[in-house]
Amino acid sequence: MSAEPVAEPIVGFRQWGSRRGRLFSGIFVAGRFVPNPALHQVAPRAVPSPWPTDADRVAKCFALRGHEAPHRDCRCGYAAYYAMPEDPELPAPEAVWGAVVAWGRIVECETGFRAQYARPIALLECDNPLDRRPVKLVARAAEEYAIPLLSREELIAYAGWHGELPG
Ligand SMILES: [Zn+2]
Repeated sequence: MSAEPVAEPIVGFRQWGSRRGRLFSGIFVAGRFVPNPALHQVAPRAVPSPWPTDADRVAKCFALRGHEAPHRDCRCGYAAYYAMPEDPELPAPEAVWGAVVAWGRIVECETGFRAQYARPIALLECDNPLDRRPVKLVARAAEEYAIPLLSREELIAYAGWHGELPG
């Protein structure tokens, strides 16, 4: 359970909140998307930043006594699941799923990992019934990030080309 640098990039699956074509880390509370609640606790007026469209994302810890992210005793780093859920939850219109490639220092957990560096590589094409826009948020995000929109099976196969699929 230590954060060791990995030789090969690994891939995982995660959820984001999509706003105006950008992907944000965050949580979903009662049908609403809350971008990066950890950041809000530490710096209430800080503006959550989207995952960059043209660069890798580098993890930062928002704990008061910061450390290099990810830290095994914290929740920092870019989290992803090892497996793509069969029936991914879409609790809000902004909810989107996709695959990431991750590298650097990695904290491995039971169902997933937290990484120092990560980048989205593809998004899950699915019909979020809460998103009633003519152009779905997930389609807009796929275009902004210039990454493909894939079915669940295609997404898993595509992820496997980009790095090690744990498990
Ligand atoms: Zn931390």
